[in-house]
Amino acid sequence: MGTRVYIETFGCQMNVTDTERAATGLRKAGYELTESAETADVVLFNTCSVRERAVQKVQTRIGEVRDSTRARQPVIGVMGCVAQLEGEAIFDNAVVNIVAGTRATDRLPALIERVRGGESKVIDLGERAAGEIWDVSPVERHSPYVAFVPIIEGCNKFCSFCIVPYSRGREISRTATEIVAEVERLRQSGYKEVHLIGQNVNSYRPKSEEGMASYTGATHFSRLLRAVAATGMERIKFTTSFPRDFHPDIVSAIEEYPNLCDWIHLPVQSGSDRILKAMRRGYDSSSYLRRVETIRNSRRKLALTSDVIVGFPGETESDFEATLDIVKQSEYDGLYIFKYSTRPGTPAAKLAGEVPPGEMKERFLMLERTQRQVQSRRYADYIGRTVGVLVEGESSRSADDVTGHSTCHKVVNFRGDSNLLGQIVDVTITEAKPNSLYGRAGDLPLETAQLGCT
Ligand code: SAM
Repeated sequence: MGTRVYIETFGCQMNVTDTERAATGLRKAGYELTESAETADVVLFNTCSVRERAVQKVQTRIGEVRDSTRARQPVIGVMGCVAQLEGEAIFDNAVVNIVAGTRATDRLPALIERVRGGESKVIDLGERAAGEIWDVSPVERHSPYVAFVPIIEGCNKFCSFCIVPYSRGREISRTATEIVAEVERLRQSGYKEVHLIGQNVNSYRPKSEEGMASYTGATHFSRLLRAVAATGMERIKFTTSFPRDFHPDIVSAIEEYPNLCDWIHLPVQSGSDRILKAMRRGYDSSSYLRRVETIRNSRRKLALTSDVIVGFPGETESDFEATLDIVKQSEYDGLYIFKYSTRPGTPAAKLAGEVPPGEMKERFLMLERTQRQVQSRRYADYIGRTVGVLVEGESSRSADDVTGHSTCHKVVNFRGDSNLLGQIVDVTITEAKPNSLYGRAGDLPLETAQLGCT
């Protein structure tokens, strides 16, 4: 039996793709991948550092795995954002043998070999090597129907609260040729949906125009969207868009190509101009709302989701009121609400005006209630509409139901069986729940389904 590796992933889609890439490289190097830490010879934790809780979760998991694997004593490695940021300090936890930063993914086999060869602690926080290609084998993908395709790594924005520029380095875009070829391969192997991913996808700026010469557009990103749409991949989603770089031509591209899905994630973070400035977001509430208006005025019914941080240092009651206002005005289809978490090394960590935890919790709950009201209206608006749903699994609630996502990225459940897995089905919505829709499979032609939430 070969050496078995188990990888546990925390955090964002970028980490999911890094795990897929790591698993591809490890299998190529002769390792077996296993589903449980208890049967593994090597346990790797792919970590997230965006909030303190994520970091604590990893520490707890390392302890649990150490306790449950005492007899086997597997090699233990920490990869990803926490590894990049904390480096050597991670070895203070005596059980850790490998520390591999965010760009060391392809060198994991060599690092593991060094430990197996007798070294007790190995570390690699280096850059990606020249000529490395993003290679993910279909068996390592997180879903047989939906694939994540990274288009840009890193972040140049340096928002004052955010650790990402430090953990993932500067923005580097893949060429359109490489991205289009990957999407084309995925289409040919039966994938129905791709998500173009990156911290700020619309800041996409490749070193060369290679692969997009025949596609017009106001920005590199909107040209890339057209190039990817032209592959004929059935559904294309993209996340996250950075508000300052959001150009109306993105909406134009969506209107031109039915396979560009009707969902945009545009994190606002706060509705207060004073706080947005302190966050160094590079936009104010009115310029953000102008972008929302462009999205809402589209010929397509586009779903809009967002992120908000409550309790940023110095956030007053009236700043928070402004956040409630922008959430009501933007009418989000979904909202991720985060309590501010101090990230050592970021400029915001030095700011005075800490919001007491009790106050932070109250704001969190109030914003959640506000969004619930907005969202129930948005969801109810889908009743009677027909949406295209990619069936991704059986429903956890009922053995007679299947579940999937609409083109507007809402969870939709309906009566059906596993024969529908991987198919795009027209579903007429009959009921709206707080975070999902329920409907019945219709008999409209697929072309209508592809237009989704229109
Ligand atoms: N690039 C995206 C942007 O800022 O537009 C966000 C990427 S970040 C990985 C995902 C979300 O985590 C952010 O939108 C933000 O709401 C939240 N987040 C980031 N840093 C945080 C912090 N220090 N405390 C609480 N939430 C944070």
